[in-house]
Amino acid sequence: MQRVLVVEDEPDLRELVLLHLSRAGLLADGAATGQEGLLAAQTTLPDLVILDLMLPDLSGIEVCQQLRAFPATAHLPIIMLTALGAEADRVLGLEHGADDYVTKPFSSRELVLRVQAVLRRNFRASELPEESQPLRVDAIVLDAVRHQVFVQQEEVKLTALEFRLLTALLTRQGEVLTRRQLLQDVWGLSPELQTRTVDTHIKRLRERLGPAGDAIETIRGVGYRYYRLGGP
Ligand code: CA
Repeated sequence: MQRVLVVEDEPDLRELVLLHLSRAGLLADGAATGQEGLLAAQTTLPDLVILDLMLPDLSGIEVCQQLRAFPATAHLPIIMLTALGAEADRVLGLEHGADDYVTKPFSSRELVLRVQAVLRRNFRASELPEESQPLRVDAIVLDAVRHQVFVQQEEVKLTALEFRLLTALLTRQGEVLTRRQLLQDVWGLSPELQTRTVDTHIKRLRERLGPAGDAIETIRGVGYRYYRLGGP
């Protein structure tokens, strides 16, 4: 059974979300503060965290950063809850490692669907056949089985979403992938998402890969392409 942690300080909203998650067949735990959430994440090791941006002690961004800093929770999928119209908050959340966001007010059904989509994506990623070989492109080695990425033999820590983004680019190297295509393949169908989300994550992925990230080309007005440094 998959486990979801809900970090939300409004008791009514927290209880409502917990109720709908358990009705959907998920194991759901609640935390009312950022500190409580961090502790719960490290002790119960959930499969996904729903994280409110506005918490009484730490901000959702700080919780996000701390989760990313611990090896045990570094790849944990995070869905951020943000206020309506707060575009800056959403971008900030995505820049600090959230995988997706849901804008308040949301319907419980929408949130549960989003949670299930993220869990399915991560399940698929971890269910690749044992014998599948790591993908080697230029200085990058992507090991889908162990969910690890190496650049010149050095491990680069990526979030689950960045990992999928890199997989999409590397497996279709040389092809131009439009932002829409990437949104569909990497994020799943999420009509609320803006194409700007893709740009934010590409920027972060490039930074994480260092010089190897230069091979991710921007095709102005269209999308992105991994252009093999060593030729086709
Ligand atoms: Ca709140």
